[in-house]
Amino acid sequence: MSTDKNNTVAPPLTSNFLRAIVEADLAAGTHAHTGLPPVITRFPPEPNGYLHIGHAKSICVNFGIARDYHGVCHLRFDDTNPAKEEQEYVDTIIDSVKWLGFSWEKDGQSHLHYASDYFEQLYAMAEYLITAGFAYVDSQSADEIRLNRGNFGTSGTNSPFRERPAAESLQLFRDMKAGKYQDGEHILRAKISADAMAAPNMNLRDPAIYRIRHAHHHRTGDAWCIYPMYDYTHPISDAIEHITQSLCTLEFQDHRPFYDWLLATLSAGGFFAQPVPRQYEFARLNLTYVVTSKRKLRQLVDEQIVSGWDDPRMPTIVGLRRRGYTPEAIQLFCERIGVSKADGWIDMSTLEGALRDDLDPKAPRATAVLRPLKLIIDNFPENHSEDCSSPVHPHFPERGVRHFPITRELWIEQEDFMAVPTKGYFRYFPPIGDAPGSRVRLRHGYVTECVGVDKDADGNVSAVHVRYFEDSKSGTPGSDTYKVKGNIHWVSAATAVEAEVRLYDRLFVEAQPDAGGKDFIAALNPQALEVITAYLEPGMREAKADQRFQFERHGYFVADRVDSAPGKPVFNRITTLKDGWAVKQK
Ligand code: ATP
Ligand code: MG
Repeated sequence: MSTDKNNTVAPPLTSNFLRAIVEADLAAGTHAHTGLPPVITRFPPEPNGYLHIGHAKSICVNFGIARDYHGVCHLRFDDTNPAKEEQEYVDTIIDSVKWLGFSWEKDGQSHLHYASDYFEQLYAMAEYLITAGFAYVDSQSADEIRLNRGNFGTSGTNSPFRERPAAESLQLFRDMKAGKYQDGEHILRAKISADAMAAPNMNLRDPAIYRIRHAHHHRTGDAWCIYPMYDYTHPISDAIEHITQSLCTLEFQDHRPFYDWLLATLSAGGFFAQPVPRQYEFARLNLTYVVTSKRKLRQLVDEQIVSGWDDPRMPTIVGLRRRGYTPEAIQLFCERIGVSKADGWIDMSTLEGALRDDLDPKAPRATAVLRPLKLIIDNFPENHSEDCSSPVHPHFPERGVRHFPITRELWIEQEDFMAVPTKGYFRYFPPIGDAPGSRVRLRHGYVTECVGVDKDADGNVSAVHVRYFEDSKSGTPGSDTYKVKGNIHWVSAATAVEAEVRLYDRLFVEAQPDAGGKDFIAALNPQALEVITAYLEPGMREAKADQRFQFERHGYFVADRVDSAPGKPVFNRITTLKDGWAVKQK
């Protein structure tokens, strides 16, 4: 536990190298701008798709650090690529970050930003760079630029336009902005140093900072036909927003020298005060049995392999939400995996483990028979019904009890009956020879003894017959004199809720379905969805969309938020009670 300057107790913080950096900056007063929060981070998605579990890690890192150090995290849309971006994506990203439990508001102020809000400033800074000799308009074709860039280990070649006078570049840049040229005719490039085209880091070889793109932008409409590149926009947006630590994934490590150069240059030019933001990189999340690339997720949607971005098998935030994941489970998962500086793989069971740990204390219990077999209590009066009850949660008696009737005809699980029992099988089996049938307790009900079965024309068991012992009802005096080893769940056929239940499993059968660029479609799990009709205890008729339950013995289930109707819930299996996958793979 730690205390802050207001002497309020902060939750214990899981330490990691990013937090160490933040704490060192705080201790040194590096970013003690007057009036600004001590820590300002940002989460900068491009609005070109739905967020996935990998983004959740970045969200938890950025918003989590801001929260824990009394700072703020900005939600910033990096919307500089008009062709691929849409309002639909902006909306879902806003929804997903909120649902995950984070806010970009601080002291009544909203910190929802768009890089496109900075287009004027970005443009002014580009003019400055040209004037100061740090940028030039290149008129080579895209192919020429690519060829002249060189390769890793081979220097690039200077553009013939590299030394064109600043005034000429400036005029061309203004004409680009005015719409006088077609896409690709000219491009604005940074000139970091005289020999930058020989820089070992390819990102420093006169990187493009503005290009012509005659395209409609989802926010600025047709106001612009030149758009700033990501590597140019990102550091400047960070500096405009006074970001204290710009936290991103490792693939941006090679972009950091340009980030630093650009902000140092603009700061020397009077655009920003020191200290400017600094970038720090952490390992991205690679999770087994899923793919976390927007492009590949889009392919699953476009080829209708899944029902949409929110298909419960998808590792998108909207998919996980519909599947029944809680924001707390995802946060717990992100806490447990921590942050590191080296890429690695996290096993899906870690995510499922966090989910079970979160749901177990929360989820009310309920009974569901997923693979029904009829059970008839021969000596139970017809049309008679008796109340049975069970705690809503076995560890929290204060949450009350649920009631359900026992009647003459019940549904039990098919696996709770065996015509010829194997050794150690304690559930229902019929009399064999002189030996009586097995005795089994119907949970929260009566002890029964199997007396026979009905068979259909094909010889399959269609119903199990039992008789019950009137003085054996659970919770009544003397009921414990019946010693039975089998204890099974059931629902009354007369009052059961017949419901569609969707049994979801992992989307891929291979741990790293897209490793080494292989065809991930080939690794799809054909059994990732099974739809069944199940019988649920009567209270489930009232289940509301998004309500989660533990169906005893089966796992955690949620009333589907899209397809459930009042009085007619559809349930998704969120996860089984135990990690059955490890066993299944053997
Ligand atoms: P994708 O590769 O799926 O398209 P992206 O990186 O292009 O993802 P952005 O919208 O640019 O998507 O991502 C926003 C932020 O989320 C970035 O800072 C990025 O580093 C981070 N991010 C994306 N994927 C992961 C991941 N798997 N683990 C951690 N952070 C991630
Ligand atoms: Mg990206």
